[in-house]
Amino acid sequence: MEKTTEVVAGTESSVDVLDALVIGAGVTGIYALYKLQESGLNVQLVDKAGGVGGTWFWNRYPGARFDSDSYSYAYFFSQVLADEWKWSEHYAGQPEIERYFNFVVDRFGLRKNIRLNTEVESAHFDREHSYWVVTYAGGQQVKTRFLIPATGMLSEPITPKFEGMEDFQGTTVLTALWPSEGVDLKGKRVALIGTGSSGIQVATEIAGEVGSLTVFQRSGHWATPLRNQAFTPEEQATFREQFKELHQKRLNHFGGFFHEPELRSTFDVSDEERLEFYETLYNTGGLRVLTSNFADAGIDPKANELWTEFVADKIRERVNDKELADRLIPSDHPFGAHRPPKDTGYFEIYNRPNVDLVSVRETPIKRFTATGIETTEGNSEFDVIILATGFDAWLGTLRKIDIRNEEGLGLMESWESDGPKTLLGVGIPQFPNLLFVGGLHSLGGNLPACIEPQVDWVTQLIQYTKEHEYAVVETSEDAAEEWTDHVYDLAEKGQITHTNAWYSGRFSSSNVKTLLYFGGIPAWRERAAAIADSGYKGMSFVSR
Ligand code: NAP
Repeated sequence: MEKTTEVVAGTESSVDVLDALVIGAGVTGIYALYKLQESGLNVQLVDKAGGVGGTWFWNRYPGARFDSDSYSYAYFFSQVLADEWKWSEHYAGQPEIERYFNFVVDRFGLRKNIRLNTEVESAHFDREHSYWVVTYAGGQQVKTRFLIPATGMLSEPITPKFEGMEDFQGTTVLTALWPSEGVDLKGKRVALIGTGSSGIQVATEIAGEVGSLTVFQRSGHWATPLRNQAFTPEEQATFREQFKELHQKRLNHFGGFFHEPELRSTFDVSDEERLEFYETLYNTGGLRVLTSNFADAGIDPKANELWTEFVADKIRERVNDKELADRLIPSDHPFGAHRPPKDTGYFEIYNRPNVDLVSVRETPIKRFTATGIETTEGNSEFDVIILATGFDAWLGTLRKIDIRNEEGLGLMESWESDGPKTLLGVGIPQFPNLLFVGGLHSLGGNLPACIEPQVDWVTQLIQYTKEHEYAVVETSEDAAEEWTDHVYDLAEKGQITHTNAWYSGRFSSSNVKTLLYFGGIPAWRERAAAIADSGYKGMSFVSR
């Protein structure tokens, strides 16, 4: 068999067929590389980016930072991670996060098996040899027994199609593809389209620096304070000491956080107690408004309404112009239906004389012009237009890779009529040796926690095939059907999952009920362990 040394140039490996090729050097891909490499497998990780970190490599816009606690949005596979890495803040900023991923890659000897600036164009399964033939942009090919897409949920940004975009003579920039050399915004007339987490973060960060900022909002969002602060040496010491316990705690938490869940429901307490509870929650900051809110806040519309009334009042308190405050208050979705952004003074920017809000539902954008943006009320001139318009979640990146089985069936094609069907969000019927991690039908929450059990499970599965000298693993249609029905049943239960949003895994343009698993980490682990213990019921194996 022909050697593939030219394909893996820049890495240490020069085998005929890799055990595994991981696509995507983000949170999931880096952990997958670590686990597979540690298990003695011949593995490589590729990414089209010039650096590691995935979403934390690309989203380097001003103000980009965690809204999960830094020390929980991290790996826990080695005590070294607590002994040698110190977070500076409770919610670290993008540069520090990117440094963290580079630290992990270097400290654990992973870089030798990472190939950057490498875009996967296609992957075709060769049944005769039981491997995937993967072609990179530029034509180089590599063969791998297992193909592991770790392409994430939010890796393909959406560029909206406004008429005349190409006519605009100023700078147009996406938050999700922010240039590493930065964008000069000082004193500039800036337009921002999009008010999700990215839009809110960038707006808050740049409002004081730009000449003027005009925010084009389609929907208001239920932003609540982040309350960031320094991570003290005492906290670092506690983190180090409790590292093992914290790891277990995270694995046992529904969404992979350290937050204590609130067991009481909204109507278990008096109105006075409820308001006091809301006040404390609001002031604590971060994602606890979601994870430690009353148990029924995301399920019972009446409970949700009481919380949103409270948050709406806070917005009214924070914005001087009451009519503008009302336009900022969401009117089209309950709290939690879209992922609620965390803010560091977002609403207060509207008290500045250089910041303005345009509600595009009332005043739609007609087109971009050479000098700015024309709405139904006229033309406004800008030097820079920032697009914080979100992502083609889950499927965007996969759509760009031509993945085909031995009969020439495309992955996307196979999902056309009924949407994706998976077993545990890992195995896909008709696509042997294709094992997803951190992808569709898998856990949503604190991502490093959510992907950990899945990567561990996949590693164990690959080791099992090695031990038994199996060359092929296939997922049965029945098992995938059953898991997908289970995913859909869970999604039916929460009111938030009935809103079309990337966060509920539900899209208006599709018949897919959700792409997200709402069962929580402990339940996923239990089901996954039962499948492994049964000798991988729902999967079949073919010997070499
Ligand atoms: P997003 O939440 O999908 O927000 C996209 C925004 O663009 C929305 O406000 C959307 O309006 C608006 N938009 C899209 N197309 C538009 C158009 N044609 N005209 C006007 N407005 C348009 O995307 P994101 O802000 O990048 O955040 C995505 C996810 O990334 C978050 O939910 C979060 O999970 C993650 N994130 C996390 C952090 C963090 O703090 N750690 C920071 C940034 C992002 P509608 O709301 O009306 O759709």
